[in-house]
Amino acid sequence: MSPIAANLQAVRRRISETLQGDSRAVTVVAVSKSQGLEAVRQAHDAGCRDFGESYVQEALPKLAALSDLPVTWHYIGHLQTNKARDIAAHFDWVHGVDRAKAAAALAKSRPEGYAPLNVCVQVNISDEETKGGVDPAQALVLAREIAAMPRLRLRGLMGMASPTDDVDERRRQFALLRKAAEAIRAAGIEIDTLSMGMSDDYREALQEGANMLRIGTAIFGERKNKKAA
Ligand SMILES: *Cc1c(COP(=O)(O)O)cnc(C)c1O
Repeated sequence: MSPIAANLQAVRRRISETLQGDSRAVTVVAVSKSQGLEAVRQAHDAGCRDFGESYVQEALPKLAALSDLPVTWHYIGHLQTNKARDIAAHFDWVHGVDRAKAAAALAKSRPEGYAPLNVCVQVNISDEETKGGVDPAQALVLAREIAAMPRLRLRGLMGMASPTDDVDERRRQFALLRKAAEAIRAAGIEIDTLSMGMSDDYREALQEGANMLRIGTAIFGERKNKKAA
């Protein structure tokens, strides 16, 4: 078994231990930023069907070289409006939408004949200025705007907890995302995705209702060139 396959097996085991019989379907997005083509192929061979990338320039040649793989590509990086065209043309999901203007740019750029682009609203649950995302209280307004846009399909919310060792604090932050999603559903807007949880905190995210995890290091090992995302 490849190291990647072994890591993936360990992650899946921890997910089912954490869920304790809850039959929730959980999608693991293997975050392949800074990883080479061979690593992505190994993860695919080990059963990964969803991959996440954070940098458009790095991702485009990679996606082209891997176009034979039947996988779903998630753009999880910062969404710059001037990159909207490339993102809308090459990715299946975008997780970091935190402004109506950027969403509109994606909608306008999604090519004719493609399925609608799946979108998550990014919510700032850590209250850190450096992290993107709307305030939890603003998530409903943006969700409503995006739900009305053509060529986009609003799927849910994405958030990142602070890098803290305090598991209660992580849970408190993830609960903010869950509650924001509940408020959106209560307003009659259909969403099915809570994208939260990374290598160091996916168990707390699962405990607060995550059904999409974005996991890099725990699958691929340390990134060679660890840029802040
Ligand atoms: C890099 C990144 C991840 C994965 O981080 P790991 O700690 O390696 O699991 C998840 N989400 C986003 C938005 C990222 O930028």
